[in-house]
Amino acid sequence: MAERVRLRRRARGCAAAALACVLAAGCAVNPVTGRRQLALVSEAQEIQIGQQAAQEVAQQLGLVEDEALQQYVQRVGAQLARESERPQLPWTFRVVDDPTPNAFALPGGFIFMTRGMMNLIDSEAELAAILGHEIGHVTARHSVSQISRGQLAQLGLGVGSILFPSAAQSFGGLAQTGMQLLFLSYGRNAERQADELGFSYALREGYEVREMDDIFATLMRIGESSGRSALPSWMASHPAEPERIAAAQARADTVTRAPLELGRDAYLARIDGLVYGDDPRQGFFRGGVFLHPELRFRIDFPQGWRTQNLPQAVNALAPRQDAVMQLTLAQGAAGAEDAARRFFSQQGLRPGQAGRQNVNGNPAVVGYFQAQTQQGVIAGMAAFIEHGGRTYQVLAYTPAQRFRQYESAFRQVIFSFDDVNDPAVLNVRPNRIDVVRTTRPMTLADFNRQHPSVIPLPELAILNQVENENSVLPAGQWKRVVSQ
Ligand SMILES: [Zn+2]
Repeated sequence: MAERVRLRRRARGCAAAALACVLAAGCAVNPVTGRRQLALVSEAQEIQIGQQAAQEVAQQLGLVEDEALQQYVQRVGAQLARESERPQLPWTFRVVDDPTPNAFALPGGFIFMTRGMMNLIDSEAELAAILGHEIGHVTARHSVSQISRGQLAQLGLGVGSILFPSAAQSFGGLAQTGMQLLFLSYGRNAERQADELGFSYALREGYEVREMDDIFATLMRIGESSGRSALPSWMASHPAEPERIAAAQARADTVTRAPLELGRDAYLARIDGLVYGDDPRQGFFRGGVFLHPELRFRIDFPQGWRTQNLPQAVNALAPRQDAVMQLTLAQGAAGAEDAARRFFSQQGLRPGQAGRQNVNGNPAVVGYFQAQTQQGVIAGMAAFIEHGGRTYQVLAYTPAQRFRQYESAFRQVIFSFDDVNDPAVLNVRPNRIDVVRTTRPMTLADFNRQHPSVIPLPELAILNQVENENSVLPAGQWKRVVSQ
């Protein structure tokens, strides 16, 4: 990460930019501004980078399994992109299964909405506002100009994963280059430009742009909290700036065209039943204990460690950030011994003592290793545990000189792996959005008494885009309830 930041900062400098221009592919015309601009990548390269990164993102975060919803977002997005300066790109719009409200644009026209963002959006016009903004980042080539030469080299070589990333990198799946592209921030001018572009695409498609700032206001109310997700919140990647909101309102005031389409009922019908918040069916933490109802296992992490549940891994980071544990499936392995053999025979890895073990009745192989990494020599333990027809890999490592300090914690976690039989865990259900119509004018508090939600009233107010529990909801309007 440090290297990426340094490269980006240098590229901002005038002299450095000029030098880079000489060294690299050269300059290209920006499709939006028409001005010549430093371009490290051709359009074909841009598409290739985006495609590869999009695959990693989809794999790391997982897509929402709702084909109708995916097609709907693709249709709305593709219509907007057709209005853009780069209609020829392979525009792809997907919803990833992450509860944090956010949206991302990858180079080449690959755009992701999170499930958390879909939960919050109130109409098709708001969806168009967010998608249009992200399309703007692509058409104005913001996402391309942020790619450093180092990343380009990595992407080109297809170096997607690193065996032992540093503690902070491995936390959040940041070792994946494609994932790193999600963490780019574009700067104030680029955000303003993306706002303007998104606005014009949406207006050309006939959307009610005058109510678009509602979703941006909602995102501001939610603030920076990004929970346990791998992703930063919208607010973290799009800093709130009063002048941006004011500019959006001023733009909206100039619109005289009518009628424009809001698409509220159509949108809400699409998200009726969508999971809200974390989906515990995909595993969840209760304190330091990770429980998986589908795979029927538990594993206990030490008190005070930061934990994270990602689609492909469960991570835990020591409080001092100098030790990492990671639980994954040992893909393609025929049992614990086979998985262990493959792991310990990796190049660059020095295997230590290893042997067969019994982990709470589950056959396992547990062993020690050392490895030379860019950050120095690391030492750790690797365990391969058979359970329910699958083989799990638990990897634990720290700088070699700290290993003695962490060894007993590593062992305790590995040997805590056990079956889960508690029906309360096995039958846990996610919260879902339920769309119901108000029968008469009523306050949000009244509405909540009539249709109880499992979330607190302030959260329900944000979700339904009203001020507070005393706000009056008009009759005959679809509103959101969160139920189990
Ligand atoms: Zn943006």
